[in-house]
Amino acid sequence: ENLQEAAKWGFKISDLTRKCQTLEEVFEFINYWDVERKNLPVATDGIVLKVNSLRQQKNLGFTAKSPRWAIAYKFQAERALTRLNKVTYQVGRTGAVTPVANLDPVQLSGTVVKRASLHNADIIEGLDLHMGDMVYVEKGGEIIPKITGVDKDARSFMLGEKVRFIVNCPECGSKLVRYEGEAAHYCPNETACPPQIKGKIEHFISRKAMNIDGLGPETVDMFYRLGLIKNTADLYKLTADDIKGLDRMGEKSAENLITGIAQSKTVPFERVIFALGIRFVGETVAKKIAKSFENIDDLQQADLEKLVSIDEIGEKIAQSILAYFANESNRELVAKLKEAGLQLYRTEEDLSGYTDKLAGQSIVISGVFVHHSRDEYKELIEKNGGKNVGSISAKTSFILAGDNMGPAKLEKAKKLGITILSEDEFLKLIS
Ligand SMILES: [Zn+2]
Repeated sequence: ENLQEAAKWGFKISDLTRKCQTLEEVFEFINYWDVERKNLPVATDGIVLKVNSLRQQKNLGFTAKSPRWAIAYKFQAERALTRLNKVTYQVGRTGAVTPVANLDPVQLSGTVVKRASLHNADIIEGLDLHMGDMVYVEKGGEIIPKITGVDKDARSFMLGEKVRFIVNCPECGSKLVRYEGEAAHYCPNETACPPQIKGKIEHFISRKAMNIDGLGPETVDMFYRLGLIKNTADLYKLTADDIKGLDRMGEKSAENLITGIAQSKTVPFERVIFALGIRFVGETVAKKIAKSFENIDDLQQADLEKLVSIDEIGEKIAQSILAYFANESNRELVAKLKEAGLQLYRTEEDLSGYTDKLAGQSIVISGVFVHHSRDEYKELIEKNGGKNVGSISAKTSFILAGDNMGPAKLEKAKKLGITILSEDEFLKLIS
């Protein structure tokens, strides 16, 4: 209904959507379009299935990255056969090194493909890739095509040199490392490897981090090339005079940019922690850290034991935080950011809404809710010091139950004598 309404307002809405009632109908739709899509005027690689009920959407909620009520179904990708000429390597903002196959140009799903991702050393090894090999290229859901196989029969009379993953960073020459449990190789030179420096600044200014208006990757790249910024703290030293007159930078936009940078000083602690770009510290972990430490100094001085005692922080994240602060340049950078006036401390506002009313309690959420989504209830439990657990056991303190609680759960709760609270009772409890 929302889509139809939007269409009435003049938005371009696909008229190929369909409301399905059963899984059979869903597959019918998929199978039909797997063939028919080739007659569409645009390239397609799949179908998006969405839960139609807004109430169910609300209850399903979101993960940190995507909605739980929408999922993509990908069609079998088209593939083409072509020759591998060269393998080059790209260094990303995290220092992760991606091998790229350079190929003889080949037509694939309507475009000419010349380069494809090889992902990591294990993939190259698994393919037993040699220079000059005839390789299968596929265009999946990603924009960048990938190599999925080698035509070994085509090797009959000449075999090129085996592709070996590089040992040193192509950008700065540092020896690459591989962290335990990770498929990628990394350049460890976080503070002086050019793509990593630019990447850190880009991450720092991004919407979910410091959200600096008017500053995008191209501008960062230009400032970096001109030597105006060498790290995130340098942003706060820029003046309108420094940047006006530069490419596409009029007086007005220069001033707006400087204002935008100054305004970012009010960004709350949790987002500043996220903005630092410590490996493995995403939004969720940054929030937990901001809640557990009064300021950045406390975090910097925390030892392994203290760090792993925090919910959501395991050994891997803790080690990464320790490694970050063990690095002299990072400590200097944090000191400069502090001097610039960023909120590297918790404010009263950050703490508002937090209580210990549910301290030490394990709470199971079950059923369908009216006032808040399941995710919101989970957050409320955590904000009030409780812990949301998945299944009912003798240790469960109580069950927060909406409508249609599963009969098996209900029986188990009764058998163990566990209290069941309604939404209203729960909200009253924490109010
Ligand atoms: Zn490097």
